[in-house]
Amino acid sequence: MASLHFRYSSMNAGKSTYLLQAAHNYEENGRQVALFTSAQDDRDGVGIIASRIGLRRQARTYAPEDNFFELLAGISTETACVLVDEAQFLTADQVKQLHRWVHTNGVPVMCFGIRSDFRGEPFPGSAALLALADKLEEMKTICACGKRATMNLRIGEDGRPVSEGNQVEIGGNNRYRQVCGRCFYGCDVQGSAAPAAPVSLGTPVTTREMALAIKKWWTDGPSSSRPNGHHNSFFDGEPDFVRQARTVLGEHGLW
Ligand SMILES: [Zn+2]
Repeated sequence: MASLHFRYSSMNAGKSTYLLQAAHNYEENGRQVALFTSAQDDRDGVGIIASRIGLRRQARTYAPEDNFFELLAGISTETACVLVDEAQFLTADQVKQLHRWVHTNGVPVMCFGIRSDFRGEPFPGSAALLALADKLEEMKTICACGKRATMNLRIGEDGRPVSEGNQVEIGGNNRYRQVCGRCFYGCDVQGSAAPAAPVSLGTPVTTREMALAIKKWWTDGPSSSRPNGHHNSFFDGEPDFVRQARTVLGEHGLW
């Protein structure tokens, strides 16, 4: 039986990469797919699904006022699977349409999206998908502290988390960091305040601004969260990105 799937994650989990790989797998086996992405997301051009590792493909677009029964009337009758990117931007009505379409047409639909925003509020499309999808799958990412990342922090100009603003701010992927619940609320193991790191584990330190934000985070943290002279007890010694920041700034005598 065909299913409505929701593959959700925090940001930067490689959802688009996974979607494009799934499309490739179908096509490699001689089967057709239909790709959709939100018209709201124009980071890579309207109607382009692009992964951070360089894959990109043209997709059909959906806007909030669109009805998926009309959109899906335009796809090939040979379609074996419908893949929907940026599914957090679906409306609740569109998720209901997709659910009904799956079960009346017998073709699976796979939706990929972010579960909650930087305030911890669910996106409308994701809330509806969590309620209606036949199959839920979390795509796992790791917080800088090593725990599973489930939340998205929005980072301000100063490298500090922000908690107010519009739900959607397209085009600022590097303004977000995926974190675990504990880091989202800025707590270390003792529950004292430890602001989350300005970059995620494995992020190359590419600019002086980034390096300065890391230095500030590493050296200015509350002393209560630096039991061993380290910034906080999440880390044994310096994480790689702090070492990189030290190197970047060291060349200019700034650290
Ligand atoms: Zn964490």
